[in-house]
Amino acid sequence: MNASFSIMKSYAERLHLVREQMAGAIARSGRKAGDVKLVAVSKTYPAEIICEVAEAGQILFGENRVQEAAGKIPLCPKDLEWHLIGHLQKNKVRKSLPLFTLLHGVDSVELAREINRISQEEDRIQRILLEVNTSLEATKFGFPQEQLSCEFEKLLTLSHVEILGLMTLAPITLTSEMARPYFAKLRALRDGLENQFFVKLPELSMGMSGDFESAIEEGATLVRIGSAIFGNR
Ligand SMILES: *Cc1c(COP(=O)(O)O)cnc(C)c1O
Repeated sequence: MNASFSIMKSYAERLHLVREQMAGAIARSGRKAGDVKLVAVSKTYPAEIICEVAEAGQILFGENRVQEAAGKIPLCPKDLEWHLIGHLQKNKVRKSLPLFTLLHGVDSVELAREINRISQEEDRIQRILLEVNTSLEATKFGFPQEQLSCEFEKLLTLSHVEILGLMTLAPITLTSEMARPYFAKLRALRDGLENQFFVKLPELSMGMSGDFESAIEEGATLVRIGSAIFGNR
């Protein structure tokens, strides 16, 4: 983190600023304040700093590694909620289930089946989002868009996962505006699945520090924001 950045503003101030920018985008798009949730992405930051952000009123946090989260979560206030935002390896599924209320990065039928199998064993229903690869530049993870509806049909048979919606990463762009087409694409894919399979997929996890305003304008319900709150990693 660069020094002038941390001296200029406290975590509480940066959180407040992000919330104001979110409110602006929510208002511009004619949506309601409760429609968009902030996932504060605390990966790489220690528990003491997460506690400071929690004291400023943030309850929902996102981590991208199961191992790291498992070490930090017990050191944080008990009333926080945690999402896994990153890729999940099959051998980490059992460890991840008790930690996270939502898994954002489910990117294969195989992984979903493993989550389903272990959830069933442990008598729970795990909430998940399907990660879609809307841009090959941004990540190697995610269902290819063309395969989504074919794979979705198989996922619908899983009794112990609840698919709440879709997630994507846009490529890093110079402006928030340039990421907009990727977000519009994710929303269109969601609308298509809802119509084809007569299901509700209310959640769209899209938008990070550099592009969350256009994501909100395109229908994001969960924005995953790290560096704008915590500083550069
Ligand atoms: C790190 C990360 C974020 C947050 O990125 P920032 O640019 O720091 O806001 C969001 N989503 C995923 C999947 C990430 O790994």
